[in-house]
Amino acid sequence: MSALAALGLTRIINAAGTVTRLSGGIMAPEVVAAMAEASAVCLDMLEVQAAACREISDATGAEAGIVTGGASAALLLGAAACLAGLDPRAMNALPAAGPRRDFVMARSQRNMYDRALEVAGGRIVEVGIPDRFSGAGVRDASAAELAAAIGPQTAAVFWVAQDWSEPPLAEVVRLAHAAGVPVLVDAAAQLPPLAHLRGFLDAGADLVAFSGGKAIGGPQASGILAGRRDLVASALLQMLDLDVPEGQFRLPAEFAGNQALPFLPRHGIGRSCKAGKEEVVGLLVALRRFQAEGDAPRRARMQARLEAVRAAMGDTPAEITPGATPLLLIRCADPAQAARMEALLRARRVHLNQGRMREGVLVVHPAALVEDDLMALGQALASAFASAGKAG
Ligand SMILES: *Cc1c(COP(=O)(O)O)cnc(C)c1O
Repeated sequence: MSALAALGLTRIINAAGTVTRLSGGIMAPEVVAAMAEASAVCLDMLEVQAAACREISDATGAEAGIVTGGASAALLLGAAACLAGLDPRAMNALPAAGPRRDFVMARSQRNMYDRALEVAGGRIVEVGIPDRFSGAGVRDASAAELAAAIGPQTAAVFWVAQDWSEPPLAEVVRLAHAAGVPVLVDAAAQLPPLAHLRGFLDAGADLVAFSGGKAIGGPQASGILAGRRDLVASALLQMLDLDVPEGQFRLPAEFAGNQALPFLPRHGIGRSCKAGKEEVVGLLVALRRFQAEGDAPRRARMQARLEAVRAAMGDTPAEITPGATPLLLIRCADPAQAARMEALLRARRVHLNQGRMREGVLVVHPAALVEDDLMALGQALASAFASAGKAG
């Protein structure tokens, strides 16, 4: 009997994308094999994270990087690094932060992931009024407003990456660095394109967080924190198990050694952010595969999945969008019909992306589909579209 069957678990069709509540995506056999290989031996976790540092530096151009238990974990650790630097007293005190504890950000970029900064001990300072989102105007937070909010109490500027984020990262970096504070970027879901692995760091960000379990195709509970070596070293020190006699500890050269530390901190605020050896190794293999495939072949692979779904839909209307990740859109007569169709499918264990349901549009995201799903998904979509249309 399979392990899943023994636990009473049966699969779903995940056309919503690599969302956490639907268990993320699918790992390639090569990634699974690497995790199994790591699981069969013990490793020194400092050496494991040093290898991660080399791989992530190659992939991103960053001075250093570590693998964490997810992008949210990377944000918590990144915040802890901005709060404590390489001061072990400050590390041991978190989440009780010193006076320099503000994370300045545009109010329009607030989301529920940013509480990771508060968990670390930071305080979020919102700037600007997002009139362009409320439909009441055209303005968002401006660079000048952001600059005015930075002061001696500022630990970092926080920037959430989206194509429409304002002010643009390059401006945010310029004003933050002019004030001597680092910029932390949430780029959890900003891959592909591959260029984003380097883009935010090239624009001057000091730390960037990516999810490992989204487009990269690594373990669901993995993430990357990449950036300035001293900050990444601080993050690593606040995540690792440091329960060793002090004289035995040596920070690997990848993280610039531990000369700067007056003493070794205790288990840090980031202990709950840890990634196991299986996650680290799995993510690194997935990261190599993600880079080797390249954007155009990945796009073609996703497009082929959606074409197969559309072919199985018969004459039910559906369109495939351009973009870094192609999507299949089903336009219903109105939002109520879209909601009925979504509910019918969910009852059949088919989950669609609901991001555009208010417009009456249902979205099929290809990233977490498996080949066996495609025909069944297309047929289920066609039959639910027909039933939902009648019911209205
Ligand atoms: C997914 C996501 C996160 C959290 O990523 P995990 O790897 O699941 O921890 C954080 N921020 C944004 C914007 C995200 O989309």
